[in-house]
Amino acid sequence: MPGKKDSDNVRVVVRCRPMNEKEKASGCKMTVKIDGVQGTTTVTNPHATHGEPPKTFTFDTVFDTDCKQVDVYNKVARPIVDFVLEGYNGTIFAYGQTGTGKTFTMEGVRTVPELRGIIPNSFAHIFGHIAKAEGDTRFLVRVSYLEIYNEEVRDLLGKDQNQRLEVKERPDVGVYVKDLSAFVVNNADDMDRIMTLGNKNRAVGATNMNEQSSRSHAIFTVTIECSEKGPDGKQHVRVGKLHLVDLAGSERQSKTGATGQRLKEATKINLSLSTLGNVISALVDGKSSHIPYRNSKLTRLLQDSLGGNSKTVMVANFGPADYNYDETISTLRYANRAK
Ligand code: ADP
Ligand code: MG
Repeated sequence: MPGKKDSDNVRVVVRCRPMNEKEKASGCKMTVKIDGVQGTTTVTNPHATHGEPPKTFTFDTVFDTDCKQVDVYNKVARPIVDFVLEGYNGTIFAYGQTGTGKTFTMEGVRTVPELRGIIPNSFAHIFGHIAKAEGDTRFLVRVSYLEIYNEEVRDLLGKDQNQRLEVKERPDVGVYVKDLSAFVVNNADDMDRIMTLGNKNRAVGATNMNEQSSRSHAIFTVTIECSEKGPDGKQHVRVGKLHLVDLAGSERQSKTGATGQRLKEATKINLSLSTLGNVISALVDGKSSHIPYRNSKLTRLLQDSLGGNSKTVMVANFGPADYNYDETISTLRYANRAK
């Protein structure tokens, strides 16, 4: 689009989860103060030596601990899903340390309507839009669900969970994952069932930070084809792709006490998250002639949906408690650089 900078299409917002019962019970202190109107997040070092001032970060949109899932959807995801319904590509990322609310933001609690996250809310939005289509407009919706673990791609909906898939590129279709399954869905319930199936196949293991800790990136992709009669009387097809990405935990390996295989995984996670940060900041900057998409599987795979005519938003999640201070600062710095 002439005159349009990539930076207009890339946004970073931040979200702070509330203190949980365990943190409250053990007397953790809040280190974060949010001013939603000014868009500021101020963090105080609980171990500050005399004279260290609090650090303040400013973003367009800051979600406080008591924000509603539907507000996050309307502000962050709705414009992107609308854009995808028009035939463009969009990507939504959840970034942050394990336990700060990435999965809560993307998936939430699917069985409780007001706690549903971006992904289930997008199902309702997409099929609500389709139900209103008039005349000769026809939609075809397909979903895929994959995981990048140790820089290897696994089809979460595939029959053989031991199979590793290749990322390929063709001039006519762009970048794609060879042999990735895609299911046609006819309603929000179909999508929900597919998500449940894929979640069962996600690789989870234990670290000493959080048992549910996730060291893989999960990408839920919705492809929406819309066929419409044009002014010439012929059917025209537009295709939009929506990628919904729950990233691996951003915590640094020193803190997780990782060794051996875990350390190797952590190094690859760090590499892909830093590459993602570099890609986003290069897009926002708008002056770079080289965008380092090829430096990680994640960015390579999403290449067609980051920058250019696509819309991207990253929700950077963090925790409010004193023991999270270092990781919270690191997340806010990452988000600040990417914005
Ligand atoms: P992550 O995916 O980043 O590891 P989770 O989404 O699993 O983190 O969140 C960790 C815990 O905190 C979960 O029990 C989740 O329900 C809760 N949680 C996270 N964010 C919020 C929030 N904004 N409001 C209420 N509970 C939250
Ligand atoms: Mg998670």
